[in-house]
Amino acid sequence: MVSTKKKGRKKLAEQAQQAESVFKASMKEEGYRCTTERLTVIREIYESDSHLDADEIFVRLKKKGVSISRATVYHTLDLLFKFHLVNKIDLGHKHTHYEKSYGVDNHLHIICEQCDRVVEVHNDKLNDILEKLCEKNGFTLGSFSLQVFAKCREEAEHHHCERKSVDDSCPSAS
Ligand SMILES: [Zn+2]
Ligand SMILES: [Zn+2]
Ligand SMILES: [Zn+2]
Repeated sequence: MVSTKKKGRKKLAEQAQQAESVFKASMKEEGYRCTTERLTVIREIYESDSHLDADEIFVRLKKKGVSISRATVYHTLDLLFKFHLVNKIDLGHKHTHYEKSYGVDNHLHIICEQCDRVVEVHNDKLNDILEKLCEKNGFTLGSFSLQVFAKCREEAEHHHCERKSVDDSCPSAS
């Protein structure tokens, strides 16, 4: 089942606000300074529905006139990961991609090897399988973010994928 249902705007805004509160509280607890720059990073991620990489976040913030360094973006992403507020995803690029994780269901990413298209799949059966596999090996399932690499059907059938010509894939991918 492909998740196409859109969550209401209000719900998303609430989610973003809660994530931000958790971030603030966690930083305070661990003795990190809660700077405006750090907050702009979490806001950018929670406003977005895609899988951003650090450079992309940096460029987006710069465009918005935020004065922030690349190093701060990287460091903030590490903090967000540490506090379980973002997931790291490997899209087969040389760099890591990030996505919001607070209030987001565990899911699978199907990534086209040829056109970089990413589809998110939420599936209860998958959850059950992983739960059982963990149990069998003496673990309790925590959160997960899975990736599989595949070829999209457009590509296989027509040797041409529409998305391939559209330049909206990751700008920093090489
Ligand atoms: Zn494709
Ligand atoms: Zn995702
Ligand atoms: Zn990328």
